[in-house]
Amino acid sequence: MFLTISAFGVPERPATDLGYLLHKHPERVQRFSTAHGTAHVFYPQATSEQCTAALLLEVDPVALVRRGKGKGRGGAPDTSLAQYVNDRPYAGSSLLAVALSSVFSSALNGQCKARPELPAQSLFLRIEIPALPARGGGEALVRRLFGPLGWSRVEATAIAWDAEFPAWGDSHYVALVLEGELTLADALRQLYVLLPVLDDAKHYWVAPDEVDKLLRAGEGWLPGHPEHRLITSRYLARRRSLTQQAMDRLELARLAEADGVAAAEIDNAVDESVDSEESPLPLAVQRREAILAALRNAGAQRVLDLGCGQGQLVQEMLKDASFREVVGVDVSMRALSLAARRLRLDRLGEQQAQRVQLVQGSLAYRDRRLSGYDAAVLSEVIEHLDLPRLPALEYSVFGAARPRTVLVTTPNVEYNVRWEGLPAGQVRHGDHRFEWNRAEFGRWAQGVASTYGYTVRFSAVGPEDPDVGPPTQMAEFTRADSSPTSHPNQRKETAA
Ligand code: SAH
Repeated sequence: MFLTISAFGVPERPATDLGYLLHKHPERVQRFSTAHGTAHVFYPQATSEQCTAALLLEVDPVALVRRGKGKGRGGAPDTSLAQYVNDRPYAGSSLLAVALSSVFSSALNGQCKARPELPAQSLFLRIEIPALPARGGGEALVRRLFGPLGWSRVEATAIAWDAEFPAWGDSHYVALVLEGELTLADALRQLYVLLPVLDDAKHYWVAPDEVDKLLRAGEGWLPGHPEHRLITSRYLARRRSLTQQAMDRLELARLAEADGVAAAEIDNAVDESVDSEESPLPLAVQRREAILAALRNAGAQRVLDLGCGQGQLVQEMLKDASFREVVGVDVSMRALSLAARRLRLDRLGEQQAQRVQLVQGSLAYRDRRLSGYDAAVLSEVIEHLDLPRLPALEYSVFGAARPRTVLVTTPNVEYNVRWEGLPAGQVRHGDHRFEWNRAEFGRWAQGVASTYGYTVRFSAVGPEDPDVGPPTQMAEFTRADSSPTSHPNQRKETAA
């Protein structure tokens, strides 16, 4: 297995800086013993214009088989010849990625003791791997994976099975050339993840800490990569639970990034700023009162506040002993830490502390921690999700967590014309991805109810205008298989 990394010099930056970055002297040939064989590093060329480092990995197929024993997927040991005679020694693959990370670990981590300023600088790089397995997608897959990562040239050329027998067609191997201006650390971290992804080898051993490794190496480029699902799944050898774990954490990273950018916006997404003058109570207060009344009415004792923001509703619920347990969930760490401060979580007595919990999580993913509650509240949350992500939230709340009652509030866009100071056509909050009129909300809620086996009724929050309706609309979903009298706390008037 063979890979070359070339750097091209510019007047103020000689190409031989590559030697510092790789921590390998250009004039020496060095050998390293790695988990799967011996790695050799040498420089076919080292001038100030072009410096090329080569990594040659000699895989020991016998060691490979021995190391694999007992570590793989279980089952009977593979005694076939294929475990000794295979492409591992020749094709760039997951083993090359492992060698890269052990031989060039400082470079991969962006560290350079001798020249600390170097790792952050981008270089003109060319990376060549003459034989790289690209299973299930070939050249096109290579382009899909490397295309979005800042390279100016991504060239994958299919390699024929045998040049003398063109009729045999192309193999699933490609010759890869990447060129572009990137930092070496970014380039290496991409290779570290994407080589095994392309390889998709069945006997790539996946340890539990592989999720951590993936996320570390993927920092800065994986969360936003259009193929992040495919990359994650293949990197983790298609193990479902690990993939799901990684996807959840990627989603958090993505949202945390967005959160950082729009932190103020998201944290303060409560619409108190646009409360109307005419209403006797701020709309946010009226909303909380309507929610609390609906929860009490439904006899809910253990309640989830999904997208709890800074925890105002959680705080109100804690004042009422009929709510035995309250869990606030939000994707924003910042919002949660503000909520913890508001609730004085660190100073609560033991009894109170047992009633409340704040957890970070994304509603776009199924979360087992959310099962088994009486009710869930989504107060002014759905409009913060991109419409294409909404079905994922619907599934995780109505399909997976399935509380008996779900309360959803969202702005009624028709009312916006009544807001003073809200320019026509504008949404109430910078982070709102959409705002619905009553008919749109009604259609959505009916659809969700029928898909997941709930009934739904609607109510108004805030002063109701004869033409445009109320400022906030609320839907109350009740799981169709739940008996209305099955809860002791249930108030008499709704049991009728
Ligand atoms: N429920 C509060 C806050 C609404 S603001 C209230 O009524 O005042 C919307 C909140 O949803 C924000 O705190 C935001 O961080 C959170 N949020 C947005 N997308 C989310 C997601 N996918 N998972 C969990 N929380 C999310």
